[in-house]
Amino acid sequence: MEELEELYPWQNTLWQQLRRAEEMRAHALLLKGRKGIGKLSFAYALAKSLLCERVTARLTACGQCASCRWFTQGTHPNFYLIAPEAFTSAPSDAALESDEDRRENDTVKSRKKAGQQITIDQVRSLDHFVYFSGHQAGYKVILIHPAEAMNAAAANALLKKLEEPPAHALFLLIAHQWQDLLPTIRSRCQQITMPVPDTVTACDWLIQQGVDPPETYLALAGASPLQAKMFSQGDYLVQHAEFIRQMSLPERLDPIPLSSALSKLDLSMLVNWLQKWCYDLMSCRVTGKVRYHLQHETTIRKLAATINPLQFAQFWRDLIKTQRLSQHPLNTKLFIEEMLLSYMSVMVPGRYRE
Ligand SMILES: [Zn+2]
Repeated sequence: MEELEELYPWQNTLWQQLRRAEEMRAHALLLKGRKGIGKLSFAYALAKSLLCERVTARLTACGQCASCRWFTQGTHPNFYLIAPEAFTSAPSDAALESDEDRRENDTVKSRKKAGQQITIDQVRSLDHFVYFSGHQAGYKVILIHPAEAMNAAAANALLKKLEEPPAHALFLLIAHQWQDLLPTIRSRCQQITMPVPDTVTACDWLIQQGVDPPETYLALAGASPLQAKMFSQGDYLVQHAEFIRQMSLPERLDPIPLSSALSKLDLSMLVNWLQKWCYDLMSCRVTGKVRYHLQHETTIRKLAATINPLQFAQFWRDLIKTQRLSQHPLNTKLFIEEMLLSYMSVMVPGRYRE
């Protein structure tokens, strides 16, 4: 949890600009950007520093005062978090950053139970916080994460609040898919594009975190340093290597025993692995470039040469749907089996058995 309020090196410039700017008077900030770059911890750091009684010279929270202690304990009366139930029930440091990461850590069981949406009741419950509770002096900070998880009713309820913002309230909205937010909500926020570290900065940070070799993990994580760090922990690499070994030999795949073995892994993560693998096959075929699996370039070139690009593009689009469905599978083994059969049908069309 200590990373939750961490400011990452690639955020320093933005921090100084934002914290020193007069326009911190804005009632709502929309922090938007790709997953795994530290948006959430930035928002926590911002909230904590705004509530802090003795900010440092860098305008970061002191970490010592009563306010900072409440904040760290999660009991600050002037801080309010709105997130899908699924998120608040399973917090764990870097994984808090993204839904994708969180799903990788959750079990299938808890994922099914937990709500993925922000509901209108959650937004309505703000009224009590804003008008009646907490200290009346100073900021009241409301963090909504991720904002695109608001369903239509919740979004409209929030819009009303943004139209007539309560005094001293600051809304911090975090969004990975900010295009999915109501335009009227976006336009009422000061929009901030969160910085993405360049490769050198990201690798430097990963080295400090003990990740070795940083380039490999960064490529695997699609240039998201927080995800790269998570990938470097546990037996992720072993499982992933075995999965890639299987996918490298599509003509030898045996979907039934394999789906049984893979069903022990997180489904969303598994689909994501296949998405990245297929992205590389497609990209290699079309542009000659490999993005995620640098150490498998030779194999990818060989396989990519055999695919039918049109047919493969359709499979690629279907995988996006598969990713969405992976949150609510009826039968995990069957789900994986179907996915593997589809993969085989585009990779080795002649051998495909219905
Ligand atoms: Zn403090």
